[in-house]
Order: sequence, then structure tokens, then C-alpha cells
Amino acid sequence: MIEIEKASEIKRLVEKSDRFAILVHRNPDGDAVGSSLALAHFLRGMGKIADVIVPNAFPDFLKWLPASDSVVNFEQKKEEAVELLNKADIIFCLDFNALSRIGEIADIVSPLSTPRILVDHHLYPEDGFVVALSNTAACSTAELVYNLVDYLGDGALPSRYIAECLYTGIMTDTGNFAYASNRKEIYIVVARLIEAGIDKDLIYRRVFYNYSIDRLRLFGYVMNHKLSYYPQSNATLITLTYNEMRRFNAIKGDTEGLVNMPLQIKGVRFSCFLREEQPGKINVSLRSVDDFPCNSVAADFFSGGGHKNASGGEVQGTMEEAVERFNRAIEKYADELVK
Ligand code: 5GP
Ligand code: MN
Repeated sequence: MIEIEKASEIKRLVEKSDRFAILVHRNPDGDAVGSSLALAHFLRGMGKIADVIVPNAFPDFLKWLPASDSVVNFEQKKEEAVELLNKADIIFCLDFNALSRIGEIADIVSPLSTPRILVDHHLYPEDGFVVALSNTAACSTAELVYNLVDYLGDGALPSRYIAECLYTGIMTDTGNFAYASNRKEIYIVVARLIEAGIDKDLIYRRVFYNYSIDRLRLFGYVMNHKLSYYPQSNATLITLTYNEMRRFNAIKGDTEGLVNMPLQIKGVRFSCFLREEQPGKINVSLRSVDDFPCNSVAADFFSGGGHKNASGGEVQGTMEEAVERFNRAIEKYADELVK
């Protein structure tokens, strides 16, 4: 899963360094927060200083993760984050493939001469890292971090904290082992994490059974009123405006999983979710099944990218403009959608 020469180079760099900053992508998910906290716990266990910096807030259902309160949110604590980045001997970049994915932090990090190490599972990692542990076959960055800390720790069982963080990353990025999860090695890692003391069923409940009544009502509203079905194209579209989000008191993470639901409809191969993050800015989430490449759609129509079956992007414009792009997308990809 990880190349030994690269892991050994990381070991050399880690051993001679004292301070680490760990960065993840904007709108951090379970894999971003889980894998970065796991690495921070591991480095702290080696007596190092390690700080996790996120570009913006992460969902409440990840707040139980061990030491999640030590995470520095750049949007809220810019000065502290900049200071930590300036002081770091090494900057770890986890769960993203290009600096454009970390928003404004890119402007701080780009000019720094601090060595950057990438650990990631997205396609097409950009240059600029002293070591890039990049493997698109990995189910999650957490799986790669497991392999890395296993190597750095000479095969020792990880602490329960590390194991809880890593399991959260693996579980969320595979939709609780529903996609990107056919490799047997994943289950060998999971077995080790259970050996390390995690309660996987409890972690499931902490992450997936941790919503408000508002969130369930929001899902009900969306399924009833905001889901468009295009049977000729095997595609679906969900739109949600800023005002609708406010009406249901939606908080960060409340729309997580929404884009996957229409894939439950028999025959649907492509699901698109357009969420008005703020007036004039539409966040785009795309999901597909089988070989339909929603990352190509993201790149062609939504200035984005991602994995073949899970990708995203954005539209700077109105919801109408975003819907128009979706319509053009299903037209352009008609052949691939109906096969
Ligand atoms: P989500 O829909 O959960 O926000 O994103 C799903 C996946 O799409 C992410 O794991 C990431 O790989 C990719 N993705 C989301 N937004 C963007 C974007 O703006 N640019 C690129 N290149 N990929 C994105
Ligand atoms: Mn990931």
C-alpha cells in the first residue's frame, strides 16, 4: 500500500524534526479529520509537537474524536494557524492532492520553504512535495496513515486513540464499507484496529446516529420536494438553497450523505447535489456507481474533480446557472449514463 523507500524517507525526516503541522482539505470530512488526528497522536507519542490545522469547521459528529478540540480552525484562528505553520519543521498534507483544496491556507503555505509531505488517495497529485505517499487504490487516507504509522512504529499495535481516529476515516470514506472497499487488506487493518481496542459499533453510532430531528426533517423535505428524477438519463438532481438550509436549522455536516441516497433508486447511476453555500456560491457534490466517471463531469462542468464515484466542485453563480450546467452534463454524458 505504501512504498518502502518513501516511508523510509519520511521516517528520516520525522526523526530529525520536532514540530509538525498537519493540513487537510476544506470542508474536512471523517477521513480528513480522522487521519490527521491519528497522525498527530502518533507524532505526539514520539515526543514531537504536532498540530492539526483545518481550513474551516468540521462536522459536529466528529467532535468526539480524541483530541479533536486541539484542532485549529484557520477560519476562526488565523493568527494562531499562521504561527503554527511558520514554526513547523515539516508540513504534512493529508487527504488532498492540490493546494487549491485548502483555500486561503495555500497562500500561507506556498511561499514557505518548509518541506511538505503528502499522504493521500486522490488522483493526480500535484508536484511540490518532498515525499508523496499517494495511492488511489487506498480506500481512504486513513488506510495509508495506518500503513505509515505501522512502518514508523515498527509494527507495534497503535494506541486506542490512533485506532479510533483511523477507523473513523476508513468507515466514513467507504460509506461503512459500501464502496471502495473490496480489497481484503482493508479488513486486515480493521482487525488490527479492533485489536487496538476500538468499539467499531459505538463509532458507527457516534458518527451516523448523531443527528438532530431537524436534519431528518430536512431529508424528508428534500426527498419529497427537492429531488428530481431523470429516468431517461439514470440520473437525479437535488438542489438546496441557503434559505432552505436556514429553515431547517441546518448545521455543518447535516447534508452529509444526502447525495448518496438517490443511488438507492433502481437503475440510477449518477446523483448530483447542488447546495447554495452562500448566495452566489453553489457547492457541488457528485456520486456515481459502476464505471460512470463523475470526476469527469466535475472537471467538465463544475471546476472540480475527485474520485471516479465521488467527486465535487463549485459554481460561482446562481442556482439556475448550476442547474443549467447539470442539464448540459447529462446531455453530454447521455451515452455513458444509459449503457
Ligand atoms: P463531497 O461531495 O463529499 O464534498 O466530495 C467528494 C469528493 O469529491 C472529495 O473526496 C474530493 O475528492 C472531491 N472534491 C470535492 N470538491 C472538490 C473540488 O472542488 N475540487 C476537486 N478537485 N475535488 C473535489
Ligand atoms: Mn479521503
